[in-house]
Amino acid sequence: MGAFNVYNPIGPCPNCGNTVNQRFQFKYGECNLYEYHIGAEIIWGGNQRGKPNPGLIALDACGEECPVCDWAEDHAVIFVDGGRLVCVGPNKAKYSFSKPYNIIEIRPARSQFHVFDYQKPEFPIFDYEKEQE
Ligand SMILES: [Zn+2]
Repeated sequence: MGAFNVYNPIGPCPNCGNTVNQRFQFKYGECNLYEYHIGAEIIWGGNQRGKPNPGLIALDACGEECPVCDWAEDHAVIFVDGGRLVCVGPNKAKYSFSKPYNIIEIRPARSQFHVFDYQKPEFPIFDYEKEQE
C-alpha cells in the first residue's frame, strides 16, 4: 500500500463537537506522511498518486480516532480545490470511489473571480453541495 498523507483540519469533531486534531489519511500528491492543514497546497514529487488538478476533486479518506470521544469516520471525503485542501466530511455513500486512485473530479477550475475564504473553514462537506446548486 505504501505511504499516505494526513489532513488535519483542526476543527469540531462531527460526533462530540470538541475542537480537536482529528487526522484523516489519504493518498494524493507525493505520499510521504505529510501533514496538511486547511488551505494547504498539495505537494508533488516522488511516490506521487494522481496528478495536479486545477478544479474541485474528491479524495477517499480514512479518519483516525477523535482524541476526545474515540469516534472515527472510516469513509471520509476530502475536497481539494485548485490544488488546496479545503474541507472534509463523512461520505455517507455519496461518492463511489474506484481504484487505483480513488479520486473523483467534480468540476473544472473555478472562476478567477471566486476566492475561497480559507479563514473560515467549515468542517462538513455540505457547503460544497450548496455551492454547486
Ligand atoms: Zn469526538
